[in-house]
Amino acid sequence: MSDMSERQRPSDQILRLALESNGQRFTEQRAAVFRFLASTDMHPTADEVFLAVREEVPVISLATVYKSLETLVGCGLAMKLTYGDGSARYDGRTDPHHHARCLTCSKVFDVPGHPGPAPPSAVDEAPDGFRVTGYRLEVTGYCADCRPEAAARA
Ligand SMILES: [Zn+2]
Ligand SMILES: [Zn+2]
Repeated sequence: MSDMSERQRPSDQILRLALESNGQRFTEQRAAVFRFLASTDMHPTADEVFLAVREEVPVISLATVYKSLETLVGCGLAMKLTYGDGSARYDGRTDPHHHARCLTCSKVFDVPGHPGPAPPSAVDEAPDGFRVTGYRLEVTGYCADCRPEAAARA
């Protein structure tokens, strides 16, 4: 297991700097959570992160995963996507991008391309006195696996 901590990954260095500039400590657990988030575009839930990271760090607990995720979000190293039903997903990508969410399986996909600086004209109107600094867009629908045509074929 010392093999893992001795090998310096470039992502560990980024993580260490970001944590320390936010007054947080670098830990192997936080690094494992960060590496997994950076390696996937599946926008995992905390449970999914826990299951994946446990393979690498068997002693990690779900509570530690939760805390590590919140720390990463607080340091600007990950994004948290929250939903009306109280569920949350985490995204290792922090550059502006839009998401598409499947209404059947709840999977979240990145929308290709880079959003422009201003929201589309349909959502252009902000309340009086409100200064717009950004926007997020979520497309909803059915993913390739859940489209009614796909279900009919199965
Ligand atoms: Zn789906
Ligand atoms: Zn994303």
